[in-house]
Amino acid sequence: MSEKGKIKEITKNMTEKEEREISREKRRVQEAEEKYISWEPKTKLGKDVKLGKIKDIDFVLDNNLKILEEQIVDKLANIKSDLFSIGQSKGKFGGGKRRAWRQTQRKTKEGNVPTFSAFAVVGDENGHIGIGYGRAKETLPARDKAIRKAKLNIIKIKRSCASFDCACSEPHTVPFKVEGKSGSVKVVLIPAPQGTGLVAANELKKILKFAGIKDVYSKTFGSRRTTFNLIKACFEALKRTSPKHRSVYTLIPSRAYPNGHKREGTSPKALNEGVKWK
Ligand SMILES: [Zn+2]
Repeated sequence: MSEKGKIKEITKNMTEKEEREISREKRRVQEAEEKYISWEPKTKLGKDVKLGKIKDIDFVLDNNLKILEEQIVDKLANIKSDLFSIGQSKGKFGGGKRRAWRQTQRKTKEGNVPTFSAFAVVGDENGHIGIGYGRAKETLPARDKAIRKAKLNIIKIKRSCASFDCACSEPHTVPFKVEGKSGSVKVVLIPAPQGTGLVAANELKKILKFAGIKDVYSKTFGSRRTTFNLIKACFEALKRTSPKHRSVYTLIPSRAYPNGHKREGTSPKALNEGVKWK
């Protein structure tokens, strides 16, 4: 085949793939719409949302209203979702490739019973973000569960322009340096000027993008191969941008006690005095 023919073939394949992707996306949107029409709210919040009394997701989150139905989030925010690669493919020819489904097995007398799990992120790229983990006997229910849990788990984060060498007024980065921890993994997010992009691992880029952060520097510590903990630590870090989630208990020791743990006077009174919570 000539060079031109090859290129034609490749572009044809590409467009076919894209079309398939688009049709799949359309189908998903259609399904979601059908789901919404047939939705019968069971909670008071759900009823208010369906009747149009509540139009803003910030109202729900600021008043600490418990979201128990995923359609509430669908209705109030323009949500997108994605899956993290937490699993690996099986079999010959280079198995072990990263895959969205984690497959585990339970051994029984009758044989092996597989279980699939998925880890999803949802966000509106405008300061709202949620993560969720779901498991089921098949792949697609696991995805749906993960997305549902992520929607119920949605939080509001704070963004601003806080980099020392940037002077715009757009909320494009984190308002200050934040840290989050999960297991052994620690993630530090540092404000960056406009045009920097996301200086982070590929899996972290997903969550940062969905949260609406465009520029950030990051540092990670610990066993960062554990995607689950890496994502969770990043989520915790983003959580701490919001004053609502920045309590005494979420402060890390090094930040709470500037001199480390070796403070003069170890009585509870001495520990309480001189430490100013911000
Ligand atoms: Zn800026």
